[in-house]
Amino acid sequence: MRLSLSPEPAATAARSSLGVVPLVCRNCGAAHDAAPVAICDQCLGPVEPVYDPARTLPDRATIAARSPSLWRYHEWLPIIGEPLHSPDTGCTPLVEAPRLARRLGIARAWIKNDTVSHPSLSFKDRVVTTAINAAAAFGIRTIGCASTGNLANAVAAHAARAGLDAWIFIPHDLELGKVAATAIFAPRLVRVRGTYDDVNRLCAQAADRFGWGIVNVNLRAYYGEGSKTMAFEIAEQLGWRLPSAVIAPMAGGSLVTKLRKGFGEFLDAGLVQGALPRIFGAQASGCAPIARLVERGDDELVPEIPRTIARSSAIGNPPDGRSAARIIRDTGGWAEHVSDEALVAGIHTLAEDCGIFAETAGGTTVAGALALARAGRLTPDDELVLCITGHGLKTLEAVGDVAASAPVIEPRLRDVAALAARADTRSAS
Ligand SMILES: *Cc1c(COP(=O)(O)O)cnc(C)c1O
Ligand SMILES: [Zn+2]
Repeated sequence: MRLSLSPEPAATAARSSLGVVPLVCRNCGAAHDAAPVAICDQCLGPVEPVYDPARTLPDRATIAARSPSLWRYHEWLPIIGEPLHSPDTGCTPLVEAPRLARRLGIARAWIKNDTVSHPSLSFKDRVVTTAINAAAAFGIRTIGCASTGNLANAVAAHAARAGLDAWIFIPHDLELGKVAATAIFAPRLVRVRGTYDDVNRLCAQAADRFGWGIVNVNLRAYYGEGSKTMAFEIAEQLGWRLPSAVIAPMAGGSLVTKLRKGFGEFLDAGLVQGALPRIFGAQASGCAPIARLVERGDDELVPEIPRTIARSSAIGNPPDGRSAARIIRDTGGWAEHVSDEALVAGIHTLAEDCGIFAETAGGTTVAGALALARAGRLTPDDELVLCITGHGLKTLEAVGDVAASAPVIEPRLRDVAALAARADTRSAS
């Protein structure tokens, strides 16, 4: 692997046939050329990609005939031309969950199952797919991230395949599964003594100093757009219609805002009709700055120091927290926060009702949906999609004691018979 500490030239223009759409400031509206920049140089507001309103958009049949990856929606993604990397991420299953729907007291429920996302088993594959191609278009040879775990897995995996160098910064005490599933790809993995917010600050400084493409810092505008594909897939997989409600876990708050944007873009394109779904968010109580902002109803996010086992969503000062809260309120949704015990119970419920093993963020989402149902925020005619964003094998610590419930026997039929008899009395009682 090529390792280089020397500064790379600041890249601002596309260097291959691959192009990137320009940016606009979400705050002051200033237009910016396509560039690896995080913020507007006029007002320091966040920038986002702008698309040519005159571009030709595909119809349902055209999209449906394309290959099963998130690039089937490329007209709504910020990369122009044939993507150079990660051609096969996206199109995860949408699975109906009738038992969960009964438990929630609603008409229908589906799991958008990004636990089986290719290649790194979380929805972060979507955002890295757009960011790594933006990096390629800018001629950036070293990418990186500040991560709570899943983004580290995704950047390391996508960079390995693309043959790019990767510098990955994580809090020093992440779950073993997350660390191993990053280190295996042999990136430059750095464990930082501090919270995610400390890691993020350090990473932003390193990006400036060394000219790296940090996917969730200076490539963030391009990164975020990848999340919209979750909304596009939900709409297409439901038969080109929208659910009445959707719930997602929140870390930096980006996914929730991009679900809203994705549904909106499909409505604008006439690919689906009807009302925007109500958008709900879930966080663990030990780090719930966005949910508490929604509860308070004001516009000032109060940063928190994370204390929860839901490490993947433990961002105390979420960059998109205020826009996430605004979108949740504007769509008529709500945000719940749940205890660590409740989110572990949520992991078990999802596994036992749906046969899907999710990490702590998935448990948070299921527990959040149950809390919404108890609070009367879901209605009997609701059709809810639960975005389940990462695989349970990544956070075994959360449920490790389940293994102890399996009895150990000698290889004798008599021992099985004894167990079967005991199970009979138990189910009869
Ligand atoms: C990153 C992440 C999220 C939420 O991401 P946002 O920063 O809010 O976009 C949700 N679930 C999992 C498993 C994640 O890794
Ligand atoms: Zn601006």
